Amino acid sequence: MGTEKRCHSVTLDRPSCKGCTTCIRYCPTQAIRVQQGKAKIIDERCIDCGECIRRCQYHAKKAITDGFDILDNFKYKIALPAPAFCGQFSKADDFDIMLTGLKMLGFDHVFEVARGAEVVTAKMKELIHTGLIEAPVISSACPAVVRLIAVKYPDLMSHVAPLTSPMEAAAEMARKEAVEKTGLKDEEIGVIFITPCPAKVTAIKWPLALEKSNIDGAISIKDVYMRLAHSIDKIEKVEHLSSAGRDGVRWANHGGEAEALGIERYIAVDGIANVMEVLEKLEDDMIKGIDFIETLACTGGCVGGSLTVENNFVANSRIRRIADKIDREPNAVPRLDGMYWNRKIEYKPFSPLDEDFSEALKKAARMNEIYAGLPQLDCGSCGAPTCKDLAEDIVRGKANETDCIFKLRERVSMLAREMAELESKLPPSME
Ligand code: SF4
Ligand code: SF4
Repeated sequence: MGTEKRCHSVTLDRPSCKGCTTCIRYCPTQAIRVQQGKAKIIDERCIDCGECIRRCQYHAKKAITDGFDILDNFKYKIALPAPAFCGQFSKADDFDIMLTGLKMLGFDHVFEVARGAEVVTAKMKELIHTGLIEAPVISSACPAVVRLIAVKYPDLMSHVAPLTSPMEAAAEMARKEAVEKTGLKDEEIGVIFITPCPAKVTAIKWPLALEKSNIDGAISIKDVYMRLAHSIDKIEKVEHLSSAGRDGVRWANHGGEAEALGIERYIAVDGIANVMEVLEKLEDDMIKGIDFIETLACTGGCVGGSLTVENNFVANSRIRRIADKIDREPNAVPRLDGMYWNRKIEYKPFSPLDEDFSEALKKAARMNEIYAGLPQLDCGSCGAPTCKDLAEDIVRGKANETDCIFKLRERVSMLAREMAELESKLPPSME
């Protein structure tokens, strides 16, 4: 993973950035710096959580997703709507209306990711019972959280379920069905995910634990919403397209995955700051008697993703209401080839201070020295999120001590004193 090309969805729109430093305070992996009045994302640290997109009032952070023109590349197009998709439309109170709406946008078929969630739920139950994964087992459904653990809490990787995500499971099922039905070749079938967040776009373009994604592209829920918002309540012929059971549909909401598992001793945590708090407790061995932890980076779960439209509480309530009406049993669990991760996660996000170990030790000592001399207020006015980060940037040659306004003031006062002293040594003028 260290040497391959990184492909992030979250990027900076440089002209829109005002250098206000708001985003640096909220990035969970300290991946943003503001230098010369503009933000910069440190590629190797970003987990594509989308937190900076939510926080930037100037809309300078954005997620790159595919456009509808991606459909032109395929003969048969399948939409894979995330469970959160169905919470977005205030006028539609039936999944089939929303899924029919998707077909109107040029898709030949719609396959709910909630079907994939059903399969992952069944496999997760098996995995927990085998006891092969260190308890408590942490869900791997949220790609931002898996990257967060790999970056900041690597010792907890042994708790993470090495299971594929619902969108990947759904993609494999949808593709197999389509090949059988149409007789087309794999590459003629386009499987497009309708995504609530940038982390899932990155998981498709640059998978962490899979050799290759089953999905060909990702269009944001926002872009789909823009096209459908005004026409969805005017659909005359609604097709019966939904087939997922209630438990799969509820995955969109915080707690949905844990409830579907039907186990008693679980923690369901949402919002990146809360997730980090729980992971830190687990690292400190302070979580006991728990079998499963559901961790979702966005507040409210996937309904709170930064590429959704509806308020997450409203979407949550709508999904709950519609899901309660579903009286279907979960679908039979098919045999899938790609249920488990097929490559080891070797995520080395933070380059060492130096390739040479003894040099790295010297630089670490210098870093601590610099840090001790900084005000330790973590004010962010230097453009780094904390004084520790500034000390590290200085040692890496990416910042100067005088980027700290307190250090700059000290330096200016010192220079002023020296100037005054020198001036006092000047011989009297001829006049
Ligand atoms: S929040 Fe970050 S990206 Fe947005 S304007 Fe401020 S510094 Fe730039
Ligand atoms: S997407 Fe998340 S990790 Fe990446 S820069 Fe933004 S806040 Fe930081």
